[in-house]
Amino acid sequence: MNSTVSAPPPSELRRGVPPSWADIDTVLLDMDGTLLDRHFDDYFWEHHIPGIFATRHGLAPEEARRQLLATYRTVQNTLQWADLDYWSERLGINLCEEKAAIAHRVAVHPGVVEALRLLSSQGKALHLVTNAHPEALRIKMARSGLAPCFISLLTSLEVGFAKEQPQFWHKLGDHIAHHRSRTLFVDDSERVLQEAARYGIGHLLHISAPSSVAAATPSGRFPSVSGFAALLADGELLPPHSP
Ligand SMILES: [Mg+2]
Repeated sequence: MNSTVSAPPPSELRRGVPPSWADIDTVLLDMDGTLLDRHFDDYFWEHHIPGIFATRHGLAPEEARRQLLATYRTVQNTLQWADLDYWSERLGINLCEEKAAIAHRVAVHPGVVEALRLLSSQGKALHLVTNAHPEALRIKMARSGLAPCFISLLTSLEVGFAKEQPQFWHKLGDHIAHHRSRTLFVDDSERVLQEAARYGIGHLLHISAPSSVAAATPSGRFPSVSGFAALLADGELLPPHSP
């Protein structure tokens, strides 16, 4: 064997070796796209806010959308990306009020409630870990009713770093007790899963269909399922790498 060939990343080593739920005692779950339909967020940022921006500035809707999408990208993968206070200030629009105005559009993905109940009944410690702003989290939990499923709800703003940043993971233990090797992390972002893998989270699962109106995009790097409904069979939860 050529000794210069670098070792495969942990996700590659684990591929084809389905873990048992008995190997996992802590489950960290992303919110938007993983538990909740990301169509809400895509609609909010790509249509609702550009519509208001267009009216305020006398722009054509498409031009407002083009300008805002370019503006959003300037802070991609940082804490500002989902910071409603930051964007309210920058755009001159009260985004917390606007989120609340369309809260009726918040939707839980199929299979999520049942999967969370099954995991809780098996004694898993469930924690929600999200880049969402605390006010967005409050609105979405009030609407979805999912909060009681979790031991804690942790936002990136509380940690001081976005999940895309390595510092988030190195500070995770200050907020959530966990053994890396016995933890499963579920997210729809490969970039975020990559940071969790670097930190050493033992089990990773990618959600390939975060939005109900977009085609699924399976991960080539991590175990990937369309959503929690794909893990449910006859009222049981399949191991997270099995489909
Ligand atoms: Mg997400």
